[in-house]
Order: sequence, then C-alpha cells, then structure tokens
Amino acid sequence: MRRLQLLLLIPLLFTFFCQGQSNCDILIKNGKIIDGTGNSWYYGDIAVKEGKIERIGKSLPFTANQTIDAKGLIVAPGFIDVHTHIEGDEAKNPTADNFIYDGVTTVVAGNCGASNVDIGKYLHWIDS
Ligand SMILES: [Zn+2]
Repeated sequence: MRRLQLLLLIPLLFTFFCQGQSNCDILIKNGKIIDGTGNSWYYGDIAVKEGKIERIGKSLPFTANQTIDAKGLIVAPGFIDVHTHIEGDEAKNPTADNFIYDGVTTVVAGNCGASNVDIGKYLHWIDS
C-alpha cells in the first residue's frame, strides 16, 4: 500500500517541478495589478510570451529572459483617451511617445469635427 502511494506521488511531483520550468519572454513581478475588469486591485505577477499575456497570478513559476520588478508600481492595461486633438500630429510624432509614456494606447479623435473627411485615404496614408 505504501509503495502504491509513492508511485502516485511521483507523477504529481514531476508535474509540479515541470510547471516550475515554464519560460516566458517578460515576467513582471510584484505589481499592483488593475486588470480593467472592474475587480479590485491585487498584487501579482504577469508572464508575457510572444507579445501576449501568458498567465497572471501570485508567485508565478516562470523564468524569463527579462524580469521587471514592479514593486510599488501599478500594472494596468493601456488607457483610452476618448477626446484628443491629435489631427495632423501623427506625421510629426508617429510613435506617439507622449501618449505611450502616460499609458495611453488608444485615442479617439475628431470629436469636435476637425478630422479627415476621406477616412479611407487617411488610413492609407497612416499605413504607408
Ligand atoms: Zn475637442
């Protein structure tokens, strides 16, 4: 009976240690996570692999090429600026660093009527 218990335990231990060897590209540790779902914030880690979130949780068993200690910092999805006046600034500052540094990843423009009329032409210009 004791031998059977040991045999059952070995696969469980193997599974546990194999999970500890997961790899990701970026591991953000100890951040105060605000996930954008409306839930309360919580402390945790975020594993990012190939540009996508692989897992979110506490004390994630990941190794990473780059680890960021976010202790004392907030980790949140990008913010949306719902009223901007960036029309024409795209050419001057195509990387939009001023928005990125503030955490803004999406903007809404043209709310006040100052926008390109030919949206197709405008989008073609942006893509080029
Ligand atoms: Zn406006």
